[in-house]
Amino acid sequence: MARSDELFRELAALLPPEDTATVTQDMWGIGECENAISELCLRLVQHRIPITESTRGWIAALAERHGYWEYTGPDNVPELLPECVTADEQDAPWTLIERTRRGFALTEQIKDAVGPGHPLHDAVDLAAWYACHRCGDVLVGLYDRERFLAVFAPQFAIVRSSNEVSTFESIFDALDALTENCAPAKR
Ligand SMILES: [Zn+2]
Repeated sequence: MARSDELFRELAALLPPEDTATVTQDMWGIGECENAISELCLRLVQHRIPITESTRGWIAALAERHGYWEYTGPDNVPELLPECVTADEQDAPWTLIERTRRGFALTEQIKDAVGPGHPLHDAVDLAAWYACHRCGDVLVGLYDRERFLAVFAPQFAIVRSSNEVSTFESIFDALDALTENCAPAKR
């Protein structure tokens, strides 16, 4: 997973150099991805390193991609992320909302809109992950029966306020699309 490697290195570079080396070489580098992701979060909290919304969102995406977002034991990513210091800088048009009150509310709202004929009608369940505050797009995780039985990773979709839907194979592709749609103009 080249994209994961690249992303992890980028995120680990936020830590002091010694910590960066530990999490990238001694953990991620030897295939201990889950351990590496949770250590990354722990050390961001310990060093009180401010992280942007984009960083928070991509860490969650990385954890999801490695089947680790669902882990609820000690030092789990969903509980560590909110403990990280938030940077002032606004670098993403969206916010990570999975497991937040807003996320639950949006999930219900989307489920209410999904009737017969709707592109998401076959999904057994869905959960809102990210919401764009510029255009109102919502990135959702789809838990579809066949996929659930066949492969580990769920599929993702972007639901627009018009109810138009685009689907994606991975959370990375979906998050790229959500970001690009409302990318800030280059200064
Ligand atoms: Zn948007």
